[in-house]
Amino acid sequence: MNEGIRSPKLLFEEKKAIKLFLWLFYFFFVTFDIFWYFVLPKYTSYGKNDFPESGLGYWLYFWVFSLLPISISFIKKGNPYLVKYIFLLGYLLIDIIDNLLIYFGTSIPFASGNIVELLFLFFSPIFVNKKYFWTVSIGIVGKYLLLGIVLQDANVLPPIIITIILSAIAFILLIRFYSYISSLTSVHEELRQKEKLAVIGRMAAAIGHEIRNPLSSLKGFTQLQQERNPSTNEFYPIMIQEIDRINLIVNDLMYLGKPRVTEFEKASIEKVIAYTLSITQQQAERQGVTIEKMMPVAIPPIECDEKQLKQVFINLIKNAIESMSEGGTIKIITDLLQGQKLHIIIQDEGIGIDDENILNLGEPFFTTKKDGTGLGLMVSNQIIRDHNGEINIESNLGKGTKITVKLPISQKS
Ligand code: ADP
Ligand code: MG
Repeated sequence: MNEGIRSPKLLFEEKKAIKLFLWLFYFFFVTFDIFWYFVLPKYTSYGKNDFPESGLGYWLYFWVFSLLPISISFIKKGNPYLVKYIFLLGYLLIDIIDNLLIYFGTSIPFASGNIVELLFLFFSPIFVNKKYFWTVSIGIVGKYLLLGIVLQDANVLPPIIITIILSAIAFILLIRFYSYISSLTSVHEELRQKEKLAVIGRMAAAIGHEIRNPLSSLKGFTQLQQERNPSTNEFYPIMIQEIDRINLIVNDLMYLGKPRVTEFEKASIEKVIAYTLSITQQQAERQGVTIEKMMPVAIPPIECDEKQLKQVFINLIKNAIESMSEGGTIKIITDLLQGQKLHIIIQDEGIGIDDENILNLGEPFFTTKKDGTGLGLMVSNQIIRDHNGEINIESNLGKGTKITVKLPISQKS
């Protein structure tokens, strides 16, 4: 399909196709002539009986059969891709010479062509090759045009029209094969991606799990030390903050590989957001970012996994803060649609995301940050989907990003 890719499997397929082609080519080529010169004239008034005096005579067969050893040597050298072109161009050249010898300078009406031309056409879907298809169609039509012009004979028109019609059919087949193969490839690619994710996920979850316990004792002892020596060390808050940061990353990692059992309970989304803001407050202040909450309507408690939703909003708000190195305002807007769907919009005034990167956001480990993990958005997306909701991202490069989290109020609907 793609001649640039020389994978052993594709090479094998091409060899199989070309061998089939060779067998059929010589079979049709010989059978057609036997029919034309011996069978038809014997039983009907059609056909020819001047075998093999006219044109190249026996030499026609000599040259056509001499294409075979050339082709076999190309196949043996591991380059079967060229063979179909050698055959096509070789055959056309021999045929043109033969026809010119027969008809040129005579008044015999043109009547020529061999059924192998159809074989060339209908093998282009089998080789799944557009370049070959065009070479065949243009080559055969070109041959008849050339003969028509040189011989000044309009009898070339019927074969030209037939070739064009059959080319159209071959082209449709070719396109169907192409799209079938490319959808197979994309299904395969999807599966591979899923498998890769599953492996990464299991590994991440296992590592995350092992890190969590030592981390919580580390945090406990650091807090204890801080309480014991409140005056001596200004680094304790930073240590605790960094431990919390590792904890967040570990949480993301663990979510990737867990068989997800989400425990839904009624929880207040206002509380979840308030908690999230208390966690991200310090970072926001450090970067001169103010966060405005706009919650015009009272939101009923929603069925959700509170811990996981906290993780989502921490990820999203952290991303928003991190996109605004120059400071600015983040708006958090909640809205209730027909009492059924909850929209939580997080709008920042940061650097935005360019169109190319938007496509990469679902990939694990895709990050544009020096110390990013590239897990936040992916995990958030997964969590929201597990809540039967979705996350929409709209971004304006240089102006900011608007993330909309859509959640159903009740999981039963
Ligand atoms: P990380 O934050 O560790 O890079 P994420 O999955 O949270 O990983 O985000 C992936 C990437 O998406 C970020 O590196 C960034 O390029 C882009 N991104 C996410 N949110 C925003 C945002 N609010 N503004 C600009 N870019 C963003
Ligand atoms: Mg992030």
